[in-house]
Amino acid sequence: MPTLIQLRPRDEESDLDANPPLPSAPAGPNLMRISLIARILRSRWYPGILQVPVAAVFGLVAFQLLAGPAAAQRNAGTALMWVLWWPILPITFVLVGRLWCAVCPFGAISDVVQKLVGVNRPVPRFLKLYGLWIIDAQFLAITWSDHVWGIVESPWGSGVLLLLLTTGVIISGALFQRRTFCRYLCFLGGLCSNYSRGSVVELRADQDICRTCKAKAACFNGTATQPGCPLFNFPRTMDSSANCTLCANCIKACPNDAIQVRARKPLSELWFLDKPKIEESFLAMAIMGIVLIQNLTMLSIWQDILGWIEKTTGITSYPLIFTVAFVVAVSVPVGLMALASKVASRGNLENTVTNFARFGYALIPLDIAAHLAHNLFHLLAEGGVVFSTVASLFGFDSAQMPTALASSSTILILQLIILALGVAGSAYTIRRITNRRYGSVARRRATTTPYLVLLGVLTVMNVYLFLMPMAHRM
Ligand code: SF4
Ligand code: SF4
Repeated sequence: MPTLIQLRPRDEESDLDANPPLPSAPAGPNLMRISLIARILRSRWYPGILQVPVAAVFGLVAFQLLAGPAAAQRNAGTALMWVLWWPILPITFVLVGRLWCAVCPFGAISDVVQKLVGVNRPVPRFLKLYGLWIIDAQFLAITWSDHVWGIVESPWGSGVLLLLLTTGVIISGALFQRRTFCRYLCFLGGLCSNYSRGSVVELRADQDICRTCKAKAACFNGTATQPGCPLFNFPRTMDSSANCTLCANCIKACPNDAIQVRARKPLSELWFLDKPKIEESFLAMAIMGIVLIQNLTMLSIWQDILGWIEKTTGITSYPLIFTVAFVVAVSVPVGLMALASKVASRGNLENTVTNFARFGYALIPLDIAAHLAHNLFHLLAEGGVVFSTVASLFGFDSAQMPTALASSSTILILQLIILALGVAGSAYTIRRITNRRYGSVARRRATTTPYLVLLGVLTVMNVYLFLMPMAHRM
């Protein structure tokens, strides 16, 4: 069991304007005062009652992927997973943070394995130190594999991905304490944790009550009848929603009713971060690169680019060409962020790495928007496949069902609206972080200017790609 001291890593960042202390996020209304919400979260049926249907659908998806039709357009597993679940998931992060992780079947598999054969070793130190980098690398590797081996277009490929993840979950559940996989190894968890910082709910402990607590950190450790926090959070000191799944274990374990679930302004956690991590900022920029390459490879000009590269260089290997394009696409946002941070460091007197770590988070709203806008295309242009493939499972004739749920122009308008909201959210976040951090107008201006220019460049890139006609995947 990790000691509590490990839960409170020292903030070693250079904190030039940290004296006097920086203002912290105001507490929003406590939703636990609404008796229905309090009753649901305190119920012993929660979150199990949600896990059961999710596990049933997961079983159907896995069965279809591994044993269903080989063509993605006719496979209900592919349609449910990539056309419905994947596009909708980021919306849930913005609304209810990492709640998905509380009902995710992988978490449940980890719990069962742990109960049956778990040896409950502490989380290895290297995972605590480098887990987020491993998640970053996985995220890039899975995106690369999708393009080179066609995971999304191949039910079998998607099935193998699920099997690999399940193997990781089983090994982690057998060896380590709590949900080590979810906290330190799951690539989806990394995405959830970044996006959940923008969510409109947060779980926090009432500090006044905690100060007088004699319950030996029951919220973290659990009690005789109630497990502690599966993701190693100590609610008393928790100041981020990145690793809280709203599983409600701590609510049930705390004998003092100190846990609050509060409403908050969207994105507000990003404005008050005190301990930025470079690996989380890197993930934010890598996601931007991934969205750019995902969009680029769906355009008809992608085939022209491939043809041009082949003609000019004589290279015909798609994996090689894609790898180069992928490295370039991910490097562009990361490199531009590094450049903006270098410029900002001249004016705000903090070093480039600190600036990169701090302001990478400001691009999360644009990340979310670009990701949502990209996925909206799949949901609305290909969403009919979900109905037709599921209908055919029950013996209905689905041949005449349309694939598109909305016209191309409607989808484009919605995409541009979502992008505009993301740009506004990122610009406002840059301003909020800067104003909170730096006292003088000169330092504020020297910081906001390069990041707003960066935001402008990324926006133009995204708008340009979204304006081009995209190819269907299904
Ligand atoms: S949340 Fe509850 S159990 Fe945890 S420290 Fe506060 S009062 Fe104690
Ligand atoms: S902090 Fe509480 S609600 Fe959040 S993951 Fe831990 S136990 Fe669950």
